[in-house]
Amino acid sequence: MKKSYHVDEKGYYGPFGGSFVPEMLYPNMETLQNSYLDIMKEPSFQEEFHALLKDYVGRPSPLYFAKRLSEKYGAKIYLKREDLNHTGAHKINNTIGQILLAKRLGKKKIIAETGAGQHGVATATVCALAGMECTVYMGEIDISRQAPNVARMKMLGARVVAATSGSKTLKDATNEAIRAWISDPVDIHYIIGSVVGFHPYPDMVARFQSVISEEIKWQLKEKEQREYPDYIIACVGGGSNAAGAFYHYLDQDEVKLIAVEASGKGVDSGESAATSVLGKEGIIHGSRTLLMQTEDGQIIEPYSISAGLDYPGVGPQHAYLFQSGRAEFLNATDDEAMRAGLELCQLEGIIPAIETSHALAALGKKSFKKRDVVVVNLSGRGDKDLDTYIRYFDL
Ligand SMILES: *Cc1c(COP(=O)(O)O)cnc(C)c1O
Repeated sequence: MKKSYHVDEKGYYGPFGGSFVPEMLYPNMETLQNSYLDIMKEPSFQEEFHALLKDYVGRPSPLYFAKRLSEKYGAKIYLKREDLNHTGAHKINNTIGQILLAKRLGKKKIIAETGAGQHGVATATVCALAGMECTVYMGEIDISRQAPNVARMKMLGARVVAATSGSKTLKDATNEAIRAWISDPVDIHYIIGSVVGFHPYPDMVARFQSVISEEIKWQLKEKEQREYPDYIIACVGGGSNAAGAFYHYLDQDEVKLIAVEASGKGVDSGESAATSVLGKEGIIHGSRTLLMQTEDGQIIEPYSISAGLDYPGVGPQHAYLFQSGRAEFLNATDDEAMRAGLELCQLEGIIPAIETSHALAALGKKSFKKRDVVVVNLSGRGDKDLDTYIRYFDL
């Protein structure tokens, strides 16, 4: 049988994935596992999901042929413009899907964790849209670093709760969110923001994000008379924008998948988030995956200039794509990413999110043939990162 890169019935991708959760959450886990596919298949769900993607998010997002970038790198480079979505990134595709699912499960309250605040904002947005109560857990340090996103969440009606334990960042916020969920498992749905967590979250989030490659297929057909590119490139924090961009091409071997991680100040600098290079098998947030950890299993704090990429693991599907060799994993340092981001501004008039700039940095690491069709998933816009760009380039 041909190898599958999709999840199996038990929630695994090869040796990765599964569901390792506290017993108090078994009923939630089982309900989700037993119902997510049926709910997502319902015609009324599909209709509501796609209507919101169209009229609220602004989909389909354009597939833009980047002429000057193409000349520079000697290939036909297309940009999938997730940066043009409402709220400025791909994250909204997933939160729209999960809020509709939560309503159908009869849930009354939503919780979420957030690091830089992007997923918190995307969650607060859909809670306002659906009239649901929203609590976002955020590390105390992140709250002080990300004031504009905290303000956005509050304006959208969410309660932002500080996680004051441990390193006071994303993993502590996640622990707080799980604690809150355990305290009220019947009424609460937990909206996870990437292809991480216990089964079925990685598969469910990938399916919501798969609209990205679904659109790329027909958009390329129009522009290149074939549905597939030679390369598809995406940055990886937890891996949701990459999972969505890869989804419909996973089993098509002629499409080369390139995942780009953040190597911060360098893979060997001790300040990095390049999980595929530095990670070992372990369990984080309920699934077995690759994880940056010490000899005795303590999580190593990741670092990247980009807040959306400094996650100490990758989703289990990505761990498998890496281990099996189906995807090539590259990494870009802070400096490489910042230069690639500025280059996109000046060649194409598009200011990318710094996460996205890591994907763009991979263009300079490959040698393409002139006729190669390359799609870069432009996961988000750079407005949120202006302060970082200003400080870095002394603008
Ligand atoms: C959050 C974020 C990412 C990283 O998350 P993934 O789940 O890996 O996609 C990448 N780009 C942008 C713009 C983001 O906001």
